[in-house]
Amino acid sequence: MEYFQSLSDIASCFFRTDSFDLGILQHMTRNILYFLVLMHLVSCGKDNDVDDSGNDNGNENISLPTINENVLCNEALYSEPFPDSLLDISDMSYSPSDATAFYRELSARRYPFGATLIDEGKLYTAQDCVGLFNSGVARFDQALGRVSTIVHECGHFWSFREEDFSNALFNIAPGITLTCQNGDSEDRFGKTFAKSLIRQDDESAKRPPCDESSGPCDFYAEVYLDGNAFDNSFEGGDQGFNMIVEETIQYVNSLASEYGVRDRFTNFSTSARDGILTHLWYMQRYLRMARTTLAFDYPDAYAAIAEDECYRHAILNTWNRAWFYLNLSEGTPGLELDAGLIDLVLQDHLLEEIDRLKELEGC
Ligand SMILES: [Zn+2]
Repeated sequence: MEYFQSLSDIASCFFRTDSFDLGILQHMTRNILYFLVLMHLVSCGKDNDVDDSGNDNGNENISLPTINENVLCNEALYSEPFPDSLLDISDMSYSPSDATAFYRELSARRYPFGATLIDEGKLYTAQDCVGLFNSGVARFDQALGRVSTIVHECGHFWSFREEDFSNALFNIAPGITLTCQNGDSEDRFGKTFAKSLIRQDDESAKRPPCDESSGPCDFYAEVYLDGNAFDNSFEGGDQGFNMIVEETIQYVNSLASEYGVRDRFTNFSTSARDGILTHLWYMQRYLRMARTTLAFDYPDAYAAIAEDECYRHAILNTWNRAWFYLNLSEGTPGLELDAGLIDLVLQDHLLEEIDRLKELEGC
C-alpha cells in the first residue's frame, strides 16, 4: 500500500477516484468527509484493488498481478551467500611481509567474494593490487581498516586484466561476469561521453563537488569527475560510462567487505555506504543526461548504455547487488558519514531512469 504524505495527497486521490463535485463537497460535514476518506484509503493506493497479501478485495473480475520473477526487474529478489555471523578471526595475525595471505584469509572468513577478488586481482601482472595499496599498514587493526580498499582495488585489477579500449570486463557478483563494448567516451574509442560532464547537470548543486563549494560537498567528485573533458590532457573524469559502472561495482565490494569487519567499529565511522550511494547517484545522473541534455551532442550514448543489453544488464545487476548490501547494512554503526546521501538516490525522477531500463528489459 502506498503511503500518503499529506491530506492533499488523500484529497487528490479521493477526488480522482470518485469524481466528486466540489459544490456537493462543500455541503458535507468535516466528519463525514474524513470518514469517506478513510474508507477509500484501502483502494486508493498503488496496489489498486489488491491488498498487501495479494488477495482481491471483492471484485472477482479483476485479475491478480503476477510477481515478475526476473531478478533484473526487482532488486528485492536479489540475494547472495553471505556469512550471517562475524566468523572468528582471533587466531589470525598480521605481518606486512605476508599481507596477501592475511587479507585473503580474512576475506574468506568474512566476505568470501573478496577472497576471489584478491586471487583474481593478483593475477594482473603489471602491478600488485595488495602491495600497491598496503603502504603504511603495520598492525592488525590497521589491516582490518584496509581490507575493503584491498578488495576494491584487486577487483579493479581483475577487470584490467581483460580490458582494452573497446571491451570492459565487469565482475559484478559471484557468477555474474559480463564483457560489454563501446562504453568508454568517444575520445577513447567508445560511444559515451566524459563522466566529468555530469557536473553540469541540475543535480550537482544538491551536493556540489568540494572544489566548487565550501559547505557540505561531494569529495568523490574531485577524484572521479575531475578535469576538462575537452582539453588534450588525460584526467580520470575523461573516462566514459564504463568507468562509472566499474567504480560502482567496486564500491559495492567496499561496502560488503567493510560490513564483514563491522565489529572493528567502536567510536568512529567510515564512508562505506557513502561511496556506493554517491556512485549510484552518478549512474542515475549519467543516464538522465545521456537521455536528455546531451542526447543531441552524443546521439549514440543512451543507446550504447540503455538499449544495449550487456550494459543494461550490467547496470541492473549492479543496482540490485548494491541494494542488497545497502539494505543489509542499514543502521549498522560506523558505515556511514552522511545519512542524507540515500535521499539523493531515491529521488523519483532519478529512480525513473532505472525504471526505464526495466521497461526496456521487458519488466
Ligand atoms: Zn575504484
